[in-house]
Amino acid sequence: MQRRQFLRFGALFATLGPISFGLQAHHSQIVPVTYSREEWRQRLTRSQFKILRDEGTERPFSSSLNNEKRQGVYHCAGCDLALFKSENKYDSGTGWPSFHTAITGHIETKPDKSLFYTRTEYHCARCGGHQGHVFDDGPKPTGLRWCNNGLALRFKPANP
Ligand SMILES: [Zn+2]
Repeated sequence: MQRRQFLRFGALFATLGPISFGLQAHHSQIVPVTYSREEWRQRLTRSQFKILRDEGTERPFSSSLNNEKRQGVYHCAGCDLALFKSENKYDSGTGWPSFHTAITGHIETKPDKSLFYTRTEYHCARCGGHQGHVFDDGPKPTGLRWCNNGLALRFKPANP
């Protein structure tokens, strides 16, 4: 890994540090939702299962949530925990629903070494369902880009 890249990811982990700390503080308030793989298979569609339980990624620009602009809250498609608010969504141009801020305590992160460089995977704090990856090229105020699979979310509009 080049030095510049190393510094970039170093900066990301430094940025995420306080957030992870905040998550730990809230963690005890969330009662975990646990199902066996077979139970998840029955509760989710095939494509949702692939993303949420096997850390899959949907095709870019395939989710209708990309263009969702109404006010509301984005919930985990696995267990219904609220993860993102519409006012924190922005158009990243990547083809996946993107947010600069997540709801505190409802998301957990871990390093993902499945590519040639390490990315930061994040998942729902209640059911452990994989949502996406977080990068450090987002807009203000956090500078983060929570890049989420649309199929892993369920949007609940404020005024249905
Ligand atoms: Zn969940």
